[in-house]
Formats: sequence, structure tokens, C-alpha cells
Amino acid sequence: MRDVAYIALGSNIGDRDAHLAMARAAIAALPESRVIAESSIEETAPIGPVEQPSFLNQMIAVETTLEPRALLERLHAIEAAAGRVRAERWGPRTLDLDIVCFDQQTVSEPSLHVPHPEISARDFWQRELAELRGSMR
Ligand code: AMP
Repeated sequence: MRDVAYIALGSNIGDRDAHLAMARAAIAALPESRVIAESSIEETAPIGPVEQPSFLNQMIAVETTLEPRALLERLHAIEAAAGRVRAERWGPRTLDLDIVCFDQQTVSEPSLHVPHPEISARDFWQRELAELRGSMR
């Protein structure tokens, strides 16, 4: 069955627009997957204790038959291809990809929680989700 995954893209190092564009293209090329909507790109202040540049954020809706874990592995590979090094928590990143929610699926594993635990704490995710759902009606 095809579900819709909502994937958050974020970047706050280097050419942030180019990192988001690279992520959109890489996600569009995933097997068994089709990008069906893209939110606007929004600039947001960094979250957490580390002083760092502001982020560009965007969310995309992807119809896919990939399971959440398989999708997360693909997203980690795309982050790595963008040159991301996993350093400090809350720290700056060339590319951060999160599964925000996944229509019919819930996952509660040590390394994957769907819906994402931060979903209600991030105003910009709420705005982007509403924008995507509105555009898909
Ligand atoms: P981050 O620093 O935002 O890339 O997240 C660090 C870790 O969070 C990742 O290595 C994932 O294993 C884990 N994680 C848990 N739930 C999620 C989710 N819904 N989307 C993305 N990563 C998640």
C-alpha cells in the first residue's frame, strides 16, 4: 500500500538553498516513491543551546511504498552525500532530513519515532504540514 510520508528538510551551513535542492532531487529519485507536494521554503532561528546560523526549512510530501525504517536509511545516505558529519546534537548541519509523519504508520523504536516526537513543538513544521495538506486536497 502507498502511504504519504512527510519529510522535513533543513540546512544551516554553506549554500543552504543548494542543499535543499539536492535533497529534493535525491528524494524524488528514491525507488517506489513520488514527490506529490512541496511546501514553501522558510528561514527559522536555530533551536537549542548551540550558537549557529539560521536554518532554511522545507517539507515535502512523498507517496511511497518504502517502510519507515527503509526510508530513514535512504535519508541518512542522502545526508551523508551532502557532506553531513554527525557531530553535536542540536548543532549546525549541511542537511538534516526528518520523517515528520507517515500517514498510516506509527513506529516506536530506539532510533526511529514516527510521528516525530518534536512535531507539536515546531511551529514551522505545523505551518508546512498545513500548507502541504491544503495543496493536496
Ligand atoms: P538528527 O540529528 O535530527 O538527524 O536525528 C538523530 C537521530 O534521530 C537519527 O539518527 C535517527 O535515528 C533518529 N530519529 C528518530 N526518529 C526520527 C525521525 N522520525 N526522523 C528522523 N530521524 C529520527
